[in-house]
Amino acid sequence: MTGNATPAAHDADPGAVPSVAPATARPTHDGPLATAQTQLAGAVRRLGYDDGLHAMLATSRREINVSIPLRRDDGSTALFHGYRVQHNVSRGPGKGGLRYHPAVDIDEVRALAMWMTWKCAVVELPYGGAKGGVAIDPRLFSQAELERVTRRYTSEIMPMIGPARDIMAPDIGTDARTMAWVMDTYSVSQGYTIPGVVTGKPLEIGGSLGRATATSRGVVHSTRAALREAGRELGDVRIAVQGFGKVGSHAAVMYAEAGARVEAVSDQYGGVHRDGGLDIGRLVEHVERTGSVIGFAEADPVGNDELLLLDVDVLVPAAVEGVLNRENATHVKAQWVVEGANGPTSAPADAILAERGIVVVPDILANAGGVVVSYFEWVQAQQAYWWTEAEIEQRLEERMLHAYDAVAAVARRERISLRDAALMLSVQRVAEAHKIRGLYP
Ligand code: NAD
Repeated sequence: MTGNATPAAHDADPGAVPSVAPATARPTHDGPLATAQTQLAGAVRRLGYDDGLHAMLATSRREINVSIPLRRDDGSTALFHGYRVQHNVSRGPGKGGLRYHPAVDIDEVRALAMWMTWKCAVVELPYGGAKGGVAIDPRLFSQAELERVTRRYTSEIMPMIGPARDIMAPDIGTDARTMAWVMDTYSVSQGYTIPGVVTGKPLEIGGSLGRATATSRGVVHSTRAALREAGRELGDVRIAVQGFGKVGSHAAVMYAEAGARVEAVSDQYGGVHRDGGLDIGRLVEHVERTGSVIGFAEADPVGNDELLLLDVDVLVPAAVEGVLNRENATHVKAQWVVEGANGPTSAPADAILAERGIVVVPDILANAGGVVVSYFEWVQAQQAYWWTEAEIEQRLEERMLHAYDAVAAVARRERISLRDAALMLSVQRVAEAHKIRGLYP
């Protein structure tokens, strides 16, 4: 089976958890926001917070909804919808990616912004959580058109962003080039160069060494930490990676370099599988040549749905939300699920995996390496002083392992999953910030 993935039978069931979300923040449909709200409700219940605090934590602080008219290369006009959401800014400026994908909607952006709040708190960064998105399929537009969309989007959300307000980074469908356009548009509007408004920029304009691979490196550190708890190591495991983009491809390379057998990978067009491990170096060359993993000669085709259920030790969903759901979670064979993507596991699937004793290293911990090095990039830009790659990699590893150990300690103490522990820790840190700052006026 080589068909496209079924991205998400999103099946979070907000009704299943008492007072899952205050009316002000209730999702309009099942999907990532329902998953995020269910997770928050669980943490709020454990922490014993009241409804007022729950409502504050469940509700975005600021949201902007913009329309983006585009003059196409052929002279016609197209219109897109874009969003920027700051979920919480009590611990510092908003931080979060910019996504270009046709399925982007306000509820998805709200969920992603909320996860950024918890993620920054888990790894103890002085940031709140934010996210942006434009409902567009970037593959269908020229670079010049994407530049115009990016500049218009940036100018529409201008009052909300800035190095001390809200800092963007790449996500699905955007890259360093996109960040350069955002940074330039913002800088031109202010009259001087302001590199700190975005992270994940090209090195030439203040990007950080190690940022492009940071999320994947963090995913690999957290995989190693989870395996170590069970007395295992990367050298003796078989891995499947869903998604071969910025996160999945570098993670696959690093796993292979560490001696793991990466037996399957996929992208939105389908996947490839080889017992004993794929030659990841040759696969990367194939993808550079053809634009997809499919058709790689030294492997068998495998579908995206099938990949999730392969007989491997570690499953790394690194593509889109909601791929592990109520239907397929019962059939997952991996013993570890390391979430490279944001929100790949719906709330019911999470409960099933926990019940089955499968260790899930949650997104807000596993993929936090990207925002950690984004933070390093922002610090370097503020100081106009750049660190070496070795310094960055070492500091990233320290932060990831420190965060993993803190989460694992809470999980052991409370006898809960790593996800529940990570949420408990981060929600508590954000709530403490609220309490200490007090309520204005
Ligand atoms: P990307 O656009 O570079 O890559 C996405 C990959 O997923 C591509 O290989 C694409 O073909 C594949 N894909 C898309 N739809 C799919 C589907 N329905 N089924 C299977 N594969 C599909 O994006 P990315 O930056 O690698 O982000 C991947 C995930 O990681 C997202 O959830 C993102 O929010 C999360 N994330 C990214 C970063 C980062 O630094 N880039 C940091 C943290 C989390």
